[in-house]
Amino acid sequence: MFWYRFRNFVSCALLLLMTLAALPIGGTLAGFGRRLAGCQPLEAALHGSLIVLLVWLGITLLLGRVYCSIFCPLGIIQEFMAHLGRKHLGTSRRHTRECLALRIEILACFAALGAVFVFFGRKEWLGAFDPYTLYTKAVGAVVFLAKMVFHRQLPSGVAGDFCAAGLIVAFLSLAVTVAVSILALFKGRIFCNTVCPLGTIFSLPGRFAPVRIRIKRAECVNCRRCAAHCAASCVHVREKKIESGCCTLCVNCLKDCPKNAIGFGLSLRGAEPEEKQSGEQK
Ligand code: SF4
Ligand code: SF4
Ligand code: SF4
Repeated sequence: MFWYRFRNFVSCALLLLMTLAALPIGGTLAGFGRRLAGCQPLEAALHGSLIVLLVWLGITLLLGRVYCSIFCPLGIIQEFMAHLGRKHLGTSRRHTRECLALRIEILACFAALGAVFVFFGRKEWLGAFDPYTLYTKAVGAVVFLAKMVFHRQLPSGVAGDFCAAGLIVAFLSLAVTVAVSILALFKGRIFCNTVCPLGTIFSLPGRFAPVRIRIKRAECVNCRRCAAHCAASCVHVREKKIESGCCTLCVNCLKDCPKNAIGFGLSLRGAEPEEKQSGEQK
Protein backbone atom coordinates (compact mmCIF):
# COMPACT_ATOMS: atom_id res chain seq x y z
CA MET A 1 0.00 0.00 0.00
CA PHE A 2 2.92 2.36 0.73
CA TRP A 3 4.23 2.16 -2.84
CA TYR A 4 0.72 2.60 -4.25
CA ARG A 5 0.11 5.75 -2.24
CA PHE A 6 3.62 7.02 -2.89
CA ARG A 7 3.28 6.52 -6.65
CA ASN A 8 -0.15 8.14 -6.72
CA PHE A 9 0.99 11.13 -4.67
CA VAL A 10 4.15 11.77 -6.70
CA SER A 11 2.45 11.27 -10.08
CA CYS A 12 -0.48 13.56 -9.17
CA ALA A 13 1.89 16.24 -7.84
CA LEU A 14 3.99 16.10 -11.00
CA LEU A 15 0.90 16.17 -13.23
CA LEU A 16 -0.33 19.24 -11.39
CA LEU A 17 3.04 20.98 -11.80
CA MET A 18 3.20 20.09 -15.51
CA THR A 19 -0.34 21.37 -16.02
CA LEU A 20 0.42 24.63 -14.22
CA ALA A 21 3.56 24.99 -16.35
CA ALA A 22 1.43 24.72 -19.49
CA LEU A 23 -0.99 27.43 -18.34
CA PRO A 24 -0.38 31.10 -19.17
CA ILE A 25 0.18 32.01 -15.53
CA GLY A 26 3.05 32.99 -13.30
CA GLY A 27 3.86 31.90 -9.76
CA THR A 28 6.31 29.68 -7.99
CA LEU A 29 4.61 26.36 -8.74
CA ALA A 30 4.18 27.13 -12.45
CA GLY A 31 7.81 28.30 -12.59
CA PHE A 32 8.93 25.08 -10.92
CA GLY A 33 6.82 23.09 -13.39
CA ARG A 34 8.51 24.89 -16.29
CA ARG A 35 11.91 24.02 -14.87
CA LEU A 36 10.78 20.40 -14.66
CA ALA A 37 10.11 20.52 -18.41
CA GLY A 38 13.90 20.51 -18.87
CA CYS A 39 13.91 17.00 -17.39
CA GLN A 40 11.68 15.69 -20.18
CA PRO A 41 13.68 13.41 -22.49
CA LEU A 42 12.74 15.19 -25.74
CA GLU A 43 13.49 18.63 -24.28
CA ALA A 44 16.80 17.32 -23.02
CA ALA A 45 17.63 15.77 -26.40
CA LEU A 46 16.72 18.96 -28.31
CA HIS A 47 18.85 21.08 -25.98
CA GLY A 48 21.76 18.63 -25.88
CA SER A 49 21.37 17.98 -22.16
CA LEU A 50 23.31 14.75 -22.00
CA ILE A 51 23.23 14.59 -18.20
CA VAL A 52 19.42 14.42 -18.13
CA LEU A 53 19.37 11.69 -20.76
CA LEU A 54 22.01 9.69 -18.88
CA VAL A 55 20.08 10.05 -15.62
CA TRP A 56 16.92 8.69 -17.27
CA LEU A 57 18.92 5.85 -18.82
CA GLY A 58 20.46 5.02 -15.44
CA ILE A 59 17.10 5.07 -13.63
CA THR A 60 15.49 2.89 -16.30
CA LEU A 61 18.38 0.43 -16.36
CA LEU A 62 18.11 0.05 -12.60
CA LEU A 63 14.37 0.27 -11.89
CA GLY A 64 12.50 -0.01 -15.19
CA ARG A 65 9.99 2.44 -16.63
CA VAL A 66 9.88 4.99 -13.83
CA TYR A 67 9.29 7.70 -16.41
CA CYS A 68 6.08 5.98 -17.56
CA SER A 69 4.98 5.55 -13.96
CA ILE A 70 5.23 9.07 -12.59
CA PHE A 71 6.70 11.54 -15.07
CA CYS A 72 4.67 11.19 -18.25
CA PRO A 73 1.41 13.18 -18.11
CA LEU A 74 -0.21 11.00 -20.76
CA GLY A 75 0.76 7.88 -18.82
CA ILE A 76 -0.70 9.24 -15.58
CA ILE A 77 -3.96 10.12 -17.34
CA GLN A 78 -4.15 6.68 -18.98
CA GLU A 79 -3.64 5.00 -15.62
CA PHE A 80 -6.49 7.06 -14.18
CA MET A 81 -8.75 6.21 -17.13
CA ALA A 82 -7.88 2.51 -16.85
CA HIS A 83 -8.79 2.73 -13.17
CA LEU A 84 -12.16 4.29 -14.09
CA GLY A 85 -12.73 1.54 -16.65
CA ARG A 86 -12.04 -1.12 -14.02
CA LYS A 87 -14.23 0.50 -11.42
CA HIS A 88 -17.24 1.63 -13.46
CA LEU A 89 -17.20 -0.49 -16.61
CA GLY A 90 -15.88 -3.65 -15.03
CA THR A 91 -13.04 -3.99 -17.55
CA SER A 92 -10.63 -6.73 -16.58
CA ARG A 93 -7.21 -7.49 -18.06
CA ARG A 94 -5.52 -10.73 -19.04
CA HIS A 95 -1.89 -11.26 -19.77
CA THR A 96 -1.05 -10.31 -23.33
CA ARG A 97 2.29 -11.29 -24.70
CA GLU A 98 4.31 -8.31 -25.85
CA CYS A 99 4.89 -8.06 -29.59
CA LEU A 100 8.36 -6.54 -29.52
CA ALA A 101 8.86 -6.79 -33.29
CA LEU A 102 5.74 -4.66 -33.90
CA ARG A 103 6.88 -2.10 -31.34
CA ILE A 104 10.31 -1.84 -32.97
CA GLU A 105 8.73 -1.46 -36.43
CA ILE A 106 6.49 1.35 -35.21
CA LEU A 107 9.47 2.99 -33.50
CA ALA A 108 11.46 2.73 -36.73
CA CYS A 109 8.63 4.49 -38.61
CA PHE A 110 8.63 7.32 -36.07
CA ALA A 111 12.45 7.52 -36.26
CA ALA A 112 12.35 7.75 -40.07
CA LEU A 113 9.72 10.48 -39.92
CA GLY A 114 11.72 12.28 -37.23
CA ALA A 115 14.83 12.15 -39.43
CA VAL A 116 12.83 13.81 -42.23
CA PHE A 117 11.73 16.57 -39.82
CA VAL A 118 15.32 17.16 -38.69
CA PHE A 119 16.58 17.10 -42.30
CA PHE A 120 14.15 19.89 -43.21
CA GLY A 121 15.13 21.89 -40.12
CA ARG A 122 11.84 21.23 -38.29
CA LYS A 123 13.10 19.74 -35.04
CA GLU A 124 10.15 21.23 -33.17
CA TRP A 125 7.81 18.91 -35.07
CA LEU A 126 9.32 15.99 -33.13
CA GLY A 127 6.99 17.12 -30.37
CA ALA A 128 4.19 15.37 -32.27
CA PHE A 129 5.68 12.06 -31.04
CA ASP A 130 6.29 13.23 -27.50
CA PRO A 131 3.54 12.61 -24.90
CA TYR A 132 4.65 15.55 -22.76
CA THR A 133 4.53 18.01 -25.68
CA LEU A 134 1.16 16.61 -26.77
CA TYR A 135 -0.20 17.13 -23.27
CA THR A 136 1.03 20.72 -22.91
CA LYS A 137 -0.39 21.63 -26.34
CA ALA A 138 -3.69 19.97 -25.37
CA VAL A 139 -3.78 22.12 -22.22
CA GLY A 140 -3.26 25.14 -24.51
CA ALA A 141 -6.33 24.11 -26.53
CA VAL A 142 -8.39 23.78 -23.36
CA VAL A 143 -7.24 27.25 -22.26
CA PHE A 144 -8.29 28.62 -25.66
CA LEU A 145 -11.74 27.01 -25.33
CA ALA A 146 -12.10 28.29 -21.77
CA LYS A 147 -11.24 31.83 -22.87
CA MET A 148 -13.77 31.57 -25.69
CA VAL A 149 -16.51 30.42 -23.33
CA PHE A 150 -15.59 32.96 -20.68
CA HIS A 151 -15.29 35.98 -23.01
CA ARG A 152 -17.94 34.72 -25.47
CA GLN A 153 -15.69 35.61 -28.42
CA LEU A 154 -12.51 34.42 -30.09
CA PRO A 155 -9.56 35.41 -27.90
CA SER A 156 -7.93 38.51 -29.48
CA GLY A 157 -9.03 37.56 -33.00
CA VAL A 158 -7.04 34.29 -32.92
CA ALA A 159 -4.01 36.43 -32.13
CA GLY A 160 -2.39 37.45 -28.90
CA ASP A 161 -1.03 34.29 -27.37
CA PHE A 162 -2.66 32.13 -30.08
CA CYS A 163 -1.99 31.89 -33.80
CA ALA A 164 -3.85 29.86 -36.42
CA ALA A 165 -1.09 27.25 -36.94
CA GLY A 166 -0.55 26.97 -33.19
CA LEU A 167 -4.26 26.45 -32.70
CA ILE A 168 -4.41 23.62 -35.24
CA VAL A 169 -1.50 21.90 -33.48
CA ALA A 170 -3.13 22.47 -30.10
CA PHE A 171 -6.47 21.01 -31.15
CA LEU A 172 -4.85 18.05 -32.88
CA SER A 173 -2.91 17.41 -29.65
CA LEU A 174 -6.13 17.63 -27.67
CA ALA A 175 -7.78 15.16 -30.04
CA VAL A 176 -4.89 12.69 -29.65
CA THR A 177 -4.89 13.09 -25.86
CA VAL A 178 -8.64 12.48 -25.67
CA ALA A 179 -8.45 9.49 -28.05
CA VAL A 180 -5.62 7.88 -26.06
CA SER A 181 -7.51 8.49 -22.81
CA ILE A 182 -10.69 6.87 -24.15
CA LEU A 183 -8.64 3.94 -25.44
CA ALA A 184 -7.18 3.52 -21.95
CA LEU A 185 -10.69 3.38 -20.49
CA PHE A 186 -11.33 0.14 -22.37
CA LYS A 187 -7.89 -1.24 -23.19
CA GLY A 188 -5.59 -0.02 -20.43
CA ARG A 189 -2.04 0.93 -21.40
CA ILE A 190 -2.18 -0.56 -24.89
CA PHE A 191 -0.98 2.74 -26.40
CA CYS A 192 2.02 2.71 -24.03
CA ASN A 193 2.96 -0.85 -24.93
CA THR A 194 2.35 -0.73 -28.66
CA VAL A 195 2.48 2.72 -30.22
CA CYS A 196 4.30 5.23 -28.05
CA PRO A 197 7.87 5.66 -29.35
CA LEU A 198 9.15 6.93 -26.00
CA GLY A 199 7.57 3.96 -24.25
CA THR A 200 9.33 1.56 -26.62
CA ILE A 201 12.65 3.35 -26.06
CA PHE A 202 12.22 3.09 -22.28
CA SER A 203 11.09 -0.52 -22.50
CA LEU A 204 14.36 -1.62 -24.13
CA PRO A 205 16.64 -0.94 -21.13
CA GLY A 206 13.67 -1.37 -18.75
CA ARG A 207 13.37 -5.09 -19.48
CA PHE A 208 16.84 -5.67 -18.01
CA ALA A 209 16.25 -3.74 -14.80
CA PRO A 210 17.52 -5.77 -11.84
CA VAL A 211 15.01 -4.16 -9.45
CA ARG A 212 11.59 -5.15 -10.73
CA ILE A 213 8.13 -6.37 -9.75
CA ARG A 214 8.24 -10.09 -8.97
CA ILE A 215 5.79 -12.78 -7.83
CA LYS A 216 6.80 -14.99 -4.91
CA ARG A 217 5.89 -18.46 -6.12
CA ALA A 218 5.54 -19.96 -2.65
CA GLU A 219 3.06 -17.35 -1.46
CA CYS A 220 0.94 -16.83 -4.58
CA VAL A 221 -2.49 -18.48 -4.47
CA ASN A 222 -3.28 -17.88 -8.17
CA CYS A 223 -6.22 -15.60 -7.47
CA ARG A 224 -5.25 -13.54 -10.56
CA ARG A 225 -6.27 -10.24 -9.05
CA CYS A 226 -2.92 -8.73 -9.96
CA ALA A 227 -3.33 -9.70 -13.61
CA ALA A 228 -6.95 -8.55 -13.77
CA HIS A 229 -5.98 -5.09 -12.51
CA CYS A 230 -2.77 -4.66 -14.48
CA ALA A 231 -3.53 -1.97 -17.06
CA ALA A 232 -0.37 -2.95 -18.92
CA SER A 233 -1.53 -6.60 -19.19
CA CYS A 234 1.95 -7.77 -18.29
CA VAL A 235 1.32 -10.15 -15.35
CA HIS A 236 1.59 -13.80 -16.29
CA VAL A 237 0.19 -15.55 -13.22
CA ARG A 238 0.61 -19.12 -14.43
CA GLU A 239 4.29 -18.60 -15.13
CA LYS A 240 4.67 -16.24 -12.15
CA LYS A 241 6.31 -13.72 -14.40
CA ILE A 242 6.01 -10.03 -15.13
CA GLU A 243 7.03 -8.78 -18.55
CA SER A 244 9.24 -6.05 -17.22
CA GLY A 245 9.58 -4.32 -20.60
CA CYS A 246 5.82 -3.66 -20.48
CA CYS A 247 5.48 -2.98 -16.76
CA THR A 248 4.72 0.71 -16.27
CA LEU A 249 5.28 0.51 -12.51
CA CYS A 250 1.77 1.61 -11.59
CA VAL A 251 2.07 -0.74 -8.55
CA ASN A 252 -1.67 -1.54 -8.60
CA CYS A 253 -0.75 -5.21 -8.33
CA LEU A 254 1.02 -4.62 -5.01
CA LYS A 255 -2.11 -3.07 -3.56
CA ASP A 256 -4.45 -5.75 -4.91
CA CYS A 257 -2.62 -8.89 -3.84
CA PRO A 258 -4.34 -10.46 -0.80
CA LYS A 259 -1.21 -12.42 0.16
CA ASN A 260 1.51 -9.83 -0.36
CA ALA A 261 2.93 -12.28 -2.86
CA ILE A 262 3.93 -9.65 -5.40
CA GLY A 263 6.36 -6.82 -4.87
CA PHE A 264 9.71 -5.32 -5.72
CA GLY A 265 12.54 -7.78 -5.87
CA LEU A 266 16.00 -8.25 -7.28
CA SER A 267 16.60 -10.25 -10.43
CA LEU A 268 19.89 -10.40 -12.25
CA ARG A 269 18.59 -12.68 -14.99
CA GLY A 270 17.89 -9.88 -17.45
CA ALA A 271 14.72 -10.02 -19.51
CA GLU A 272 12.25 -12.75 -18.59
CA PRO A 273 12.58 -15.67 -20.99
CA GLU A 274 10.11 -15.86 -23.85
CA GLU A 275 7.05 -17.97 -23.22
CA LYS A 276 6.69 -21.11 -25.26
CA GLN A 277 3.10 -20.38 -26.13
CA SER A 278 2.10 -17.38 -28.16
CA GLY A 279 -0.98 -15.19 -28.07
CA GLU A 280 -3.05 -14.22 -25.09
CA GLN A 281 -2.65 -16.32 -22.00
CA LYS A 282 -4.44 -16.61 -18.74
S1 SF4 B 1 4.63 4.73 -22.94
FE1 SF4 B 1 4.59 6.82 -23.73
S2 SF4 B 1 2.56 7.63 -23.25
FE2 SF4 B 1 2.88 5.80 -22.03
S3 SF4 B 1 3.67 6.55 -20.11
FE3 SF4 B 1 5.45 5.98 -21.32
S4 SF4 B 1 6.04 7.84 -22.39
FE4 SF4 B 1 3.98 8.17 -21.60
S1 SF4 C 1 2.89 -5.55 -13.19
FE1 SF4 C 1 2.03 -4.36 -11.50
S2 SF4 C 1 3.24 -2.49 -11.50
FE2 SF4 C 1 3.59 -3.45 -13.48
S3 SF4 C 1 2.07 -2.49 -14.80
FE3 SF4 C 1 1.17 -4.38 -14.01
S4 SF4 C 1 -0.02 -3.76 -12.21
FE4 SF4 C 1 1.41 -2.09 -12.73
S1 SF4 D 1 -2.77 -11.20 -6.57
FE1 SF4 D 1 -1.11 -12.14 -5.39
S2 SF4 D 1 -1.87 -14.16 -4.85
FE2 SF4 D 1 -3.20 -13.40 -6.46
S3 SF4 D 1 -2.28 -14.22 -8.35
FE3 SF4 D 1 -1.39 -12.18 -8.02
S4 SF4 D 1 0.50 -12.55 -6.87
FE4 SF4 D 1 -0.74 -14.42 -6.73
